[in-house]
Amino acid sequence: MTAYLSPHFQLQYIDGQWRPSTCRIKIPIENPADGQLFAFVPDGSPADADFAVEAASRAFPQWRATPLEERISIIRRVQSILEERREIIADLELHELGAPIKYARTKMSAYQLSRISTFAGIAESMLLQRRTPGADVFYEPYGVVAAITPWNFPLGQAIQKVIPALLTGNTVVLKPSELAPLTAYLLAEAFDAAGLPSGVFNLVCGRGECVGEALTSHPLVNMISFTGSTETGRRIAIKAAERFTHCTLELGGKSPAVWLSSLRDFEGAARSVVGSVFSNAGQTCTALSRLIVPQTLLPEAHAAVLDAAKRLPLGSPKNPSTKIGPVVSRRQFDRVADLIRSGIDEGAEIIFGGLPKDPTHGYFITPTIFSGVTNDMRIAREEIFGPVLCIIASHDDAESLRIANDTPYGLSAAVWGAEEEARRVAMRINAGNVFINGAPRDLEAPFGGYKASGWGRESGQEGLLEFTQAKSIFSPSHSRLDPCFCIPERHQG
Ligand code: NDP
Repeated sequence: MTAYLSPHFQLQYIDGQWRPSTCRIKIPIENPADGQLFAFVPDGSPADADFAVEAASRAFPQWRATPLEERISIIRRVQSILEERREIIADLELHELGAPIKYARTKMSAYQLSRISTFAGIAESMLLQRRTPGADVFYEPYGVVAAITPWNFPLGQAIQKVIPALLTGNTVVLKPSELAPLTAYLLAEAFDAAGLPSGVFNLVCGRGECVGEALTSHPLVNMISFTGSTETGRRIAIKAAERFTHCTLELGGKSPAVWLSSLRDFEGAARSVVGSVFSNAGQTCTALSRLIVPQTLLPEAHAAVLDAAKRLPLGSPKNPSTKIGPVVSRRQFDRVADLIRSGIDEGAEIIFGGLPKDPTHGYFITPTIFSGVTNDMRIAREEIFGPVLCIIASHDDAESLRIANDTPYGLSAAVWGAEEEARRVAMRINAGNVFINGAPRDLEAPFGGYKASGWGRESGQEGLLEFTQAKSIFSPSHSRLDPCFCIPERHQG
């Protein structure tokens, strides 16, 4: 199977046109399963970023004045176009990310596209104005949004930013990760085919230190929506503060799975935890990477997670029975291997997998389970972003809760046990998302982190309102105003 190669991969999408970058250098896209360089995208320049931001800024007043129903209808057209390309999306994620084909079809393609219809549905009933006893309140767009995304769920990360930003009347410049930018091109092609006005959506490929820096320091950018590492997020937040640019950050995690003493369904709980931490080769920000169990349940925990792990074969992403593919790059391979080594050096016990061999043909890492982990070890504190599970024993449920909260992060968590008790524990976990007894996620609910896992929310109504700022108008007559009357001719930067 050869990858789908669009002629647009060589170009940037700016102001409604496919254009060459001002920089002639290209970034090669590597298939992490075999090391082959199969596509090239522009190594964009600050001039490209500048051109795109100016186009987005010019397009903003008109797009903001476009009725919400019209914006929704364009977004629904974009969804239909992408639905017809579901297989191409899966194929590209297989090649650029090494996602196993079944996982690519479900989690990288179909599931991510369902986010678009969920956002459009919420927008249909969303109130962008409301009345209080003394004021009319309007939720207005910021202006130009710089959306910067990572490589782990490439299309989904872009959708979670671009779609709500556009629905609420902002214009966008998207910079995807240099490692996995190809499905962002499909998104741009869909916007183009759906008739989105020029400049409303722009795609600029390039490196974080170049295009990313240019976007986050641009005076015409009114909001930055970033997903990525905590380190880059901190840097962006500091820069944004200098200009008071609004910024949302979806960052890393070190999420706990708490098994209470009342747990009986070890098999179900183990499948859920192991699936969470090993699928996408562990490159998931919500991975339940710390399994915290009372000492008395350790034998059951070991048996259940080993059994669950054996059901997830590592192999070629093209093989339909493969559950785990390679990690995305040599850099990621080295980072994960370094952390596995640190776990061994600090005295944790490997009960499954182990230190990966130097990669000769693809960046494959055998899923690894450590037991005997203490919460002060590097493997328990740092986000590994690879297929590594740490089992931490506690004295009792109270200590499990304390360990769960003893982390700089607060993105996600899970609790298993008697439901009422699990709910009480869930209420005391400091994280933006807590799953009880393997409940699935609901895209209508907000998603985001506490503490070093970020600022702001994506998904749900909160994910849409995140791209708006509230304005209250107090008037003697307190009449209901048509929001169009409130739009200034030129938006303020
Ligand atoms: P990075 O922070 O390295 O990169 C994220 C994006 O930021 C990329 O597009 C990158 O560009 C860009 N970037 C890098 N440096 C800068 C800069 N100085 N200024 C502006 N942009 C910059 O993260 P990864 O791509 O390595 O993603 C992995 C991390 O993302 C993990 O820590 C994970 O936890 C987190 N993550 C969080 C999620 C959440 O929802 N909370 C979801 C997914 C991932 P480029 O790579 O092209 O150079």
